[in-house]
Amino acid sequence: MAVVCPECDNPIVVDVDEVEEGETVTCDECGMDLEIVSVDPLEVAAVDVAGYDDEDPMHTADEEEE
Ligand SMILES: [Zn+2]
Repeated sequence: MAVVCPECDNPIVVDVDEVEEGETVTCDECGMDLEIVSVDPLEVAAVDVAGYDDEDPMHTADEEEE
């Protein structure tokens, strides 16, 4: 399965059997890091886009668990 890089429109092939939500893939074309936000359907988001703070394992850690 493939997604299109939001930065450069390069198709990025992602094996959905080998990735999980929250993992990141890197675009070979522009080097942008993209987080897998959903595997079904496959959806990615640029990790450095301001305002995208919904599911960032680097920052949320355990402090917002309920
Ligand atoms: Zn790219």
